[in-house]
Amino acid sequence: MSKLIATRAIRGAHKLVARAEKSLEEALKNHGPDKKVEFPNTGYYLPIAYGMLGMAIKTVGELKPLLKKAQSLLYPIPAEKIWVPYLGHTLDAGMATLFADEIIEVLKYLEDPIPYVLAENCPDEGNFWLGAADDVIMRKRGIEFVDGTAPGFAACVGVCPSTEVAVKIARELQEKNLYVLMSASNSAKGGNGKRGMADQLKEAGVQMGWETRLIPFGDDVTSTIHALGFATRAALSFGGVKPGDYAKILKYNKNRIFAFVLAFGEVGDEEHAQAAGAINYGFPTVSETDIGQILPTGVCTYEHVVSPVKPEEMVQKAIEVRGLKVQVTKVPVPVSVGAAFEGERIRGEDTYVEFGGNKTPSFEFVRTKDTKEVQDNKIEVIGPESSDVKGGTKLPLGIVAEVAGREMQEDFEPVLERRAHNFLNEAQGVFHMGQRDINWIRISKEAKEKGFKIAHLGTILHAKFHSEFGAIMDKVQVKIYTKEEDVLKMREEARAVYKKRDERVGSLTDENVDTFYSCTLCQSFAPTHVCVISPERTGLCGSYNWFTCKASNQINPRGPNQPVAKGDVIDAKKGEWKGVNDFLYEASRKVLDRFCAYSIMESPMTTCGCCECIAAILPAANGVMTVNREFSGMTPSGMKFSTLAGTCGGGQQMPGFVGHGKRYIISKKFLLAEGGIKRLVWMPKSLKEDIKEDFNKIAEAQGVPNLLDMIADETVAATEEEVVAHLQKMKHPAMELAPLM
Ligand code: SF4
Ligand code: ZN
Repeated sequence: MSKLIATRAIRGAHKLVARAEKSLEEALKNHGPDKKVEFPNTGYYLPIAYGMLGMAIKTVGELKPLLKKAQSLLYPIPAEKIWVPYLGHTLDAGMATLFADEIIEVLKYLEDPIPYVLAENCPDEGNFWLGAADDVIMRKRGIEFVDGTAPGFAACVGVCPSTEVAVKIARELQEKNLYVLMSASNSAKGGNGKRGMADQLKEAGVQMGWETRLIPFGDDVTSTIHALGFATRAALSFGGVKPGDYAKILKYNKNRIFAFVLAFGEVGDEEHAQAAGAINYGFPTVSETDIGQILPTGVCTYEHVVSPVKPEEMVQKAIEVRGLKVQVTKVPVPVSVGAAFEGERIRGEDTYVEFGGNKTPSFEFVRTKDTKEVQDNKIEVIGPESSDVKGGTKLPLGIVAEVAGREMQEDFEPVLERRAHNFLNEAQGVFHMGQRDINWIRISKEAKEKGFKIAHLGTILHAKFHSEFGAIMDKVQVKIYTKEEDVLKMREEARAVYKKRDERVGSLTDENVDTFYSCTLCQSFAPTHVCVISPERTGLCGSYNWFTCKASNQINPRGPNQPVAKGDVIDAKKGEWKGVNDFLYEASRKVLDRFCAYSIMESPMTTCGCCECIAAILPAANGVMTVNREFSGMTPSGMKFSTLAGTCGGGQQMPGFVGHGKRYIISKKFLLAEGGIKRLVWMPKSLKEDIKEDFNKIAEAQGVPNLLDMIADETVAATEEEVVAHLQKMKHPAMELAPLM
């Protein structure tokens, strides 16, 4: 730890304890030992002394043992050069400081006039320092810390570099629902002779008080104690902790109250001592000026003291250091957002602007970045906005969400990415379909009228990622590209990553794992749909493979991806397991009881609306065709992709049809029950191109190296008859296989 901090904190504690001693002597002289002391309208005596030591102090005389306790915690001030390898002495100095603060502050209520306004909110005129919160305020506000309405507080000490900065920081903290508890700095004098951030807010005409969550405690560094007093009372009243059980109080605060200290301007010995006091509670300090660092590990969750940090970065830094999870409860966009709008369709004529859906290049992509490279809630639209284009325009679109977080892992990226579908759909007037580079988005005319912009897609992702994935990420910024050249360029980057993710499953096989995973994300659209995802069969949207599900389950153990124990093998060739069937029964709301993962004819898996491909049998050809979403032409089944999706989608199990991910075609388990890839008789040419490399390897291993050429495509066959003719010409192996039906 920093030697400097220890020295200064201990020196600060010595000064404050001496000050408390002097205040107490004077109070004894002026009022006598039996004079009552209290923080008005509170039932917790001196909350720090009561909480930490179980001392129920009611009179001036009873302050004496508290002072003794403070004195006993003071160690000699170490020379700045002496290095102590542990925090102990500094922490003790911190506790001594808190006891001294409390003595000094409670005695202020004996002064005439009392230097504090006994009110909930600051009056417009005159003195505005509020001092300790009374019990009415405590009950009303404290509960917010328990139910999560307010995640915590920022104890702001000292004076910001300018009034503008003070206002900006206050707003930033308010937006995050944090309480801003302000005290002045005794050593610093800032702009216009101000000593505290509250003076600056006052100057800017900002309304202060408990109602606006901007609370000026006092014009003295010792008034910082009211923040910790508040935290202590929260533990006593809401945490059910017994007075005197200091360990529990500190632990409660460390785990439940996301508080931190922001130190602005010059940080004197006394301020160092306050910071040391706060560390006891697990509240770290972020300082504008360089006061050294106390890095992990120990009392706080992460770092204890971080400095120097530029004023505009302090809030973000503090949130990171404290491990605070930002919740954006209301998504700040001009349309309603909620699950109720998820299934809403937007017709072509009601669409103001449209992206993707095979009409323009489009993709969505989540990637991890270093925390330094991500500025939370920075949303950029690079290219035309919806306000720059006429109604009915089709624009290219590339959504790149960059996330950072201590717990973030690359494996989590596809989990977040896949949820864009639900999140964007929840906005009224926004339609989202598909994923990765086959997504399709519409913004309605009505939403545009209300002021909804392309940038708001990023706003929604920011809010939703924080609320759903707060446990793994701290920050997210979104870049939205709407110029074709940018979209094409970025799409290549995204595609390289999609490919890498797909290949990751690599050598794992369905036989060598015991556990598969379910995915029921699509149940919001297709209530009986269940994907069972094994190493050799991805989810049918192509976004979720076995690893993705595993990661998703790790993020949210009660979420949509549950482990499914395979159980006994019922049929290895059809891909039927007892555990999977049992799971399916519950997960499909008792509608389905059987899945054959490798079959299209017998209890195939259900199909939802977002599959990458749909396979269908061609009885006359004794084979199976498959078509990818991007192919909009007719298929030999007599149906286009969209008609096929309408026929078997929506969570149905329909023998003869099955939705699947592209990569399933190049899995050794592809329709194993029906003869595998040898059964494949027709695919669009573009799909063939897509999978060529891997497909040829498998075909070669199966003794038909030129199988891909034997398979018909739209250039040689548009009808089932033409497919049959092609098969005969090419001597396709499907003709030799057992009859399909
Ligand atoms: Fe999950 Fe399957 Fe829907 Fe993909 S298609 S999101 S894997 S349920
Ligand atoms: Zn789906």
